[in-house]
Amino acid sequence: MFPDDVACTNYLKRLRWPTGFVCSACGSSEAPWRQTRGRLVCPACRHQGSTTAGTLFDKTRTPLTTWFEAAWHVTTAKNGLSAKTFARTLGTRYRLAWTILQRFRVAMVRSERELLSGNVEVDETLVGGVKHGGKRGRGTAKSIVVIAVEVLEPKGFGRVRMRYVPDASGDCLVPFVRDTIVPEASVLTDGWGGYNDLSKHGYTRRKIVISSSGDPAHVSMPGVHRVASLLNDGSSAPTRGR
Ligand SMILES: [Zn+2]
Repeated sequence: MFPDDVACTNYLKRLRWPTGFVCSACGSSEAPWRQTRGRLVCPACRHQGSTTAGTLFDKTRTPLTTWFEAAWHVTTAKNGLSAKTFARTLGTRYRLAWTILQRFRVAMVRSERELLSGNVEVDETLVGGVKHGGKRGRGTAKSIVVIAVEVLEPKGFGRVRMRYVPDASGDCLVPFVRDTIVPEASVLTDGWGGYNDLSKHGYTRRKIVISSSGDPAHVSMPGVHRVASLLNDGSSAPTRGR
């Protein structure tokens, strides 16, 4: 998928400037001059930027293909990676493998700590091991996942946070919201009582009123529904009677 550094750079470019280049210094969207090693020069203010500036890969001398391969291993490893195994997998020196691994760890911790803001949908879903006709509802302990998704204007979804919770009580749901969302945020939930205490903690709770006929989840909470369906291979189940 990423045969060379040009392919990697183009991919980063699309992630970074989905609607085209914008200069980080002056905001100009004039097409940049291209230099070697992915450097871009703004024709308006001559600011030198690069596709990798401000990313994990900033100023690296390691090929992007190595970083991309590393990212793939880091995100798919089930039981964590040792630098030794990592070096063998990537075919690099131990020291480089250790450095790459360390950068990913720092970045992953940091991204987990940054709180969601703006408009955020929050709901729970059941994940894994629930067969049709199986036990559902708040009794099915370990498989409840609460999901928070930023809703962007004018459309689209931002960052996502998830947590396994033992049950759908306020004791589990409110701490999740407090750990993952800034208190100034507007939190969109359904009418479940587990979210009642959010306003005590400074959140603006917007309640979706689900009619007795039941709006499909993808209508009322498209972000959460999208994430839930990814977790569930397309099917999602209610975590409690509504
Ligand atoms: Zn500029």
